[in-house]
Amino acid sequence: MTQTLRNIIPIIKANWIGQNDVAVIDAISIDSRSLQNGENTLFFAISGPNNDGHSYIEELIEKGVKHFVVTHIPEKVSGKANFLVVENTLEALQKFASYYRSLFDFPIIGITGSNGKTIIKEWLNFLLSPDYNIIRSPKSYNSQVGVPLSILGINEKHNLGIFEAGISTMNEMEKLQKIIRPTIGILSNIGSAHDEGFPSVAEKIKEKLKLFTSVNVLILNKNKTINAFVNQKIKTFSWCSDDKSADVYITKKNTGDLTELQVTYKEDTFPIVIPFQDQASVENAIHCMMVMLYFGYNHKVIQTRMAQLYPVEMRLKVKNGIYNCTIIDDSYSSDFQSLKIALDFLEHQKQHKKKTLILSDIFQSGLNNEELYSQVSQLIISNKISRVIGIGETISQYKSKFINSVTFKNVVEFAQSFDRLNFENETILVKGARDFHFEEIVSMLEEKTHETVLEINLNAVSHNLNFFKSKLAPKTKMMVMVKAFGYGNGGFEIAKLLEHHKVDYLGVAFADEGISLKNAGITVPIMVMNPETTSFPAIIQHHLEPEIYSIKGLKAFLKIAEQKKLKNFPIHLKIDTGMHRLGFEEEHLAELISILKDNETVQIKSVLSHMATSDDLKHDAFAQSQIALFEKLSTQLLSALKIKPIRHILNTSGISNYPDAQYDMVRLGIGLYGISNDEEEQKYLENVGTLKSVISQIRTIDQGESVGYGRRFIAEKETKIATIPIGYADGIRRSWGNGLGYVVINNKPAKIVGSICMDMLMVDVTNIDCKEGNAVIVFGENPSVNHIAKQLNTIPYEILTGISQRVKRVFFRE
Ligand SMILES: *Cc1c(COP(=O)(O)O)cnc(C)c1O
Repeated sequence: MTQTLRNIIPIIKANWIGQNDVAVIDAISIDSRSLQNGENTLFFAISGPNNDGHSYIEELIEKGVKHFVVTHIPEKVSGKANFLVVENTLEALQKFASYYRSLFDFPIIGITGSNGKTIIKEWLNFLLSPDYNIIRSPKSYNSQVGVPLSILGINEKHNLGIFEAGISTMNEMEKLQKIIRPTIGILSNIGSAHDEGFPSVAEKIKEKLKLFTSVNVLILNKNKTINAFVNQKIKTFSWCSDDKSADVYITKKNTGDLTELQVTYKEDTFPIVIPFQDQASVENAIHCMMVMLYFGYNHKVIQTRMAQLYPVEMRLKVKNGIYNCTIIDDSYSSDFQSLKIALDFLEHQKQHKKKTLILSDIFQSGLNNEELYSQVSQLIISNKISRVIGIGETISQYKSKFINSVTFKNVVEFAQSFDRLNFENETILVKGARDFHFEEIVSMLEEKTHETVLEINLNAVSHNLNFFKSKLAPKTKMMVMVKAFGYGNGGFEIAKLLEHHKVDYLGVAFADEGISLKNAGITVPIMVMNPETTSFPAIIQHHLEPEIYSIKGLKAFLKIAEQKKLKNFPIHLKIDTGMHRLGFEEEHLAELISILKDNETVQIKSVLSHMATSDDLKHDAFAQSQIALFEKLSTQLLSALKIKPIRHILNTSGISNYPDAQYDMVRLGIGLYGISNDEEEQKYLENVGTLKSVISQIRTIDQGESVGYGRRFIAEKETKIATIPIGYADGIRRSWGNGLGYVVINNKPAKIVGSICMDMLMVDVTNIDCKEGNAVIVFGENPSVNHIAKQLNTIPYEILTGISQRVKRVFFRE
């Protein structure tokens, strides 16, 4: 994309304030943290409920960004850059994308529906790329922001577009339609996702169909409910399995791991084999096949290409590597757009100074190779990549464009030189197209783990954080509790993500938790809730901030701080208002005040208390009394000491139940990890941790035979038993066994039979189609940690934090 500012100003109806309107813009950004922002970037300061792009302008100007689309010019930066002032920056971005789209005139496929959008898009890309230069939405960029950014990736060489549109509430689709303006529509499966955003299912369908108002053809599964809403003027190309009046009639038959379709189209019937069995994949594949039929491909080509469909991996996974490396695994795609996203992710997740990129040839950029690899090289320089390892014939030819690089023709050559590459203490992004088989590189680099892992969905963490932020007044600060290894979900990785989201404070229980975060490079201030006297020197050395809760503790801390001649060292004061765990009581206040009055060694950053019953409205009166006492005692402290520290009392359930007591900050804990004790609220949270394992062995036992220690399960009939390598030493309670608990295999519950062993458990899979090596879900969406906790008469906190450290954590982002 290349446009001059002068050209852009009237398009977004901006009021221009600046010096240089002939400046050339070649990139659009909304992410202040991206290292890709440069002097030719036009930055749109978008304001969401949780974040205001305007507050980063100053920092961006320092980094060399010169052009901004804003709603107002913050005082500090006035005169320092070019400003395009508009009423609404998001709308301006959308307007610009819509204009940009109008410069191109080639077929564009627009996909919407509840499920399958991204898979259909990726598969179509695979099926059609031999014949077209395709631009598609990267990852699942399908939102009000993601769609315009995707469209802005189009260039002159593209001749087919594939974009997905996702909406979560009413009146969103019209805007996306104006930007994508698809000529070919695909309506994928309509399910229950985002139902809460729509008044009814009918309204949801009508809203989705708005994407197709000007298509030449709409491809869909013929279905009475949906057809009733489709505008009669729109030409459809439909398929169906039980209605022969559809344009394409399809019957399906499962054979082992495959599905065989008999496709009848224009009096012709022919078979298509798809390497999938499950209903969702089959439907997605059929939608893709419909596009191929519509494009006039012959049966042979359709057959050959459809037989090669593959499982789509859309996630960027973070894994522990050998020699203290961290690996970001994106070994399934390599196009310019997704490289940009992966490099941003690398920057967010990097855990070492050194950043390495392993990159394959790049396909489908729409550019010639000379231009493409120049641009890739620019991108790599702006992202401060320490070394580049290129793998592929083409990238090898352009080696000279990259500084500190080595190249190999293929993965085999790379493997031969593996030892000489000395991977150590670095974060490695592995990014390659499917054909290059970079999964082999990942497996060389990956630390060998056993088969049980706790998968942590970082998108869900962000989602939950934003959900709770949206409940707060804009001024309220946020401390996030990452004690006990982020409630079992991962210490550093979660903290890093929170830092990225600019939370104000982190909270840990003990000094060593804080020290390990600081050592790993976390810079957000960290409060230590239970600093033992022996740890005070370490706390000071690592710039942690102790919570002081007793006169004795205060005196001990002051003594050390004075010895070290500290000035204004940040501390936090905890008041006991009824929890009776830690804290100063009313009677201590006078002495506390007399010690702290005019003291310059420490600075009181915050005054806090903790509620005992914020989760249970049955104790509302008690909770109110705690808040009232906090108000009284903290006010006394503040006025006697003439200070204005941050005040905070609410934990997760407090945020929901006592919004009036937000004070200046709240302390979010369990909610971040996707768990609420309120059923209604739970619906709005996303599941963060999924504990997964695999089936080690399957056997069939006869009636009367037993399973496990103590013969606590006796088969009443012939029973198929699967053994799973996870046990009580991993944190699965023994009481979850013996017929009470279950795991999920191939979407079906499998009851745990007999006693759970130290490292293994056995389940009944008599009615489940499964084999050895199949994946097993121990908890996640189902069964949820909440459910397990209820059944075991405990709380979800105990289940989550009980998962042993021997279970590897794997982090991913979609
Ligand atoms: C753990 C903790 C929190 C967070 O509690 P959640 O219920 O997980 O939100 C807040 N404040 C203090 C003092 C805590 O110990």
